[in-house]
Amino acid sequence: MSHTNFSRREFLRRNSLTGLGAVLSPSLLANGKSLLTPETIPQSIKAPSISIAEAPALLGGKPVRAKAWPTWPLWKPETDEKQLLEVIRSGIWSRANVVNEFEAKWAAALGVKRALTVVNGTNAIMAALAQFDIRGGDEVLVPPYTFIGTVAPILMVGAMPVFVDVDPETFQIDPAKIEAKITPRTRAIIPVHILGLPANMTQILPIAKKHNLVVIEDACQAHFAEINHRKVGTLGNAGCFSFQNSKNLAIGEGGAIVSNDDVFMDRCFSYQNYGNPYGLVSGVIGAGTLIQGTKLRLTEYQAAIGLAQLQRLDAQTTLRNENAAYLKSKIKDIPGIVPYKLYDDVTRAAFHLFPFRFKKENFKGLSRDVFVKALTAEGIPCSKGYATLNTMPYLNDTFQTKNYQKMYPKSMLDFNSYIERNRCPQNDRLCNEEAVWLTQNMLLGTRTDMDEIASAIEKVYAHADKLLTQK
Ligand SMILES: *Cc1c(COP(=O)(O)O)cnc(C)c1O
Repeated sequence: MSHTNFSRREFLRRNSLTGLGAVLSPSLLANGKSLLTPETIPQSIKAPSISIAEAPALLGGKPVRAKAWPTWPLWKPETDEKQLLEVIRSGIWSRANVVNEFEAKWAAALGVKRALTVVNGTNAIMAALAQFDIRGGDEVLVPPYTFIGTVAPILMVGAMPVFVDVDPETFQIDPAKIEAKITPRTRAIIPVHILGLPANMTQILPIAKKHNLVVIEDACQAHFAEINHRKVGTLGNAGCFSFQNSKNLAIGEGGAIVSNDDVFMDRCFSYQNYGNPYGLVSGVIGAGTLIQGTKLRLTEYQAAIGLAQLQRLDAQTTLRNENAAYLKSKIKDIPGIVPYKLYDDVTRAAFHLFPFRFKKENFKGLSRDVFVKALTAEGIPCSKGYATLNTMPYLNDTFQTKNYQKMYPKSMLDFNSYIERNRCPQNDRLCNEEAVWLTQNMLLGTRTDMDEIASAIEKVYAHADKLLTQK
């Protein structure tokens, strides 16, 4: 190839600045325009391994990365198995001292007075709503950009979810849109620290206070995330966590409610054990049942796994923050790639996911589906994330139940007008067009791993026109 935009010497000089040899990096992007396209790279200097000149892996070329990503969850027999084996051999498997120990350590790690474990994050939120007496006829504000496990509990207690649109820059509930959704029925708000990035609690808390709303933080993806050095989940009336297998503290299943409110926490404890008096666990018969309850108890072996995982969480969180900041700096200048933004007072995020927005207009109109496929083919697994929770059939299915028909006026249960009232165009755009996620385990990799992610995105960018043929 005879025509080049700059000399071979210039090319090598620029590349050596990246520390990556002939790997394309964002430093090669000038004025929002890539200096390199496959056509401008002299054949003679194509990189031996990673090069954007290589055909896209989706079209049969060599992928940027062939190596596996760090696996999840982690299990280290040397450090993790002693207590677990003791529990199993003891025969004390139902809730007892190891669960108490895990709860005490989880509360201490967060800097909150009390923690109560339950079977999962969904039931943590359900129990918290119920013990603040959020019930039939009440409205609960919630962002649509979340997992179904945030919204299902609202319906489980008979309340009505009211969706507040998100700020697409941060992916979080938009505080500026909250007050317009408040009605005389509004009793609570569930800010979700979605993707492990803190919601704007600094603005949300005063709004909640002004309108006398209970604040239940959904921190199910946000273990050890912080606002002004205070852990999320401890800032509202209560916080809820998940320890499901994919989460940053993984037990397989499990969840926790945390709060500084003793009366509330006593009730939650009672609730997770059939409504029996606080402090009693299994095997105590004849103590009576005080409140309506259910059974949500964690097991001793789950707590032993949790204690093992907790030891690593702080160091892992630091590593995820370092790698995320580095990766963000490497991809932020690629046209059409808009990484997450953190609010100014965020001192640490959890990065359950690493999100960015994909703008197809910068990729020659390439669809997000093909972008995701192409990046995955390059050895960078990614996904497009959530679908729109504010439009799905589960809502109408609930509205048709006998309980809802009795608790709400017909006008509130008309599904078409519900959908109309709950439109969230920013969320629609994130879900249907723009969001792309990388998972937290990838952020436990090395700097070189992050470089490969950036190179793969650039490679897809450089070949966008060729990929247009793909479905
Ligand atoms: C995982 C998750 C939940 C539910 O937690 P489970 O333990 O899976 O029941 C709720 N909200 C969010 C945002 C989650 O990511």
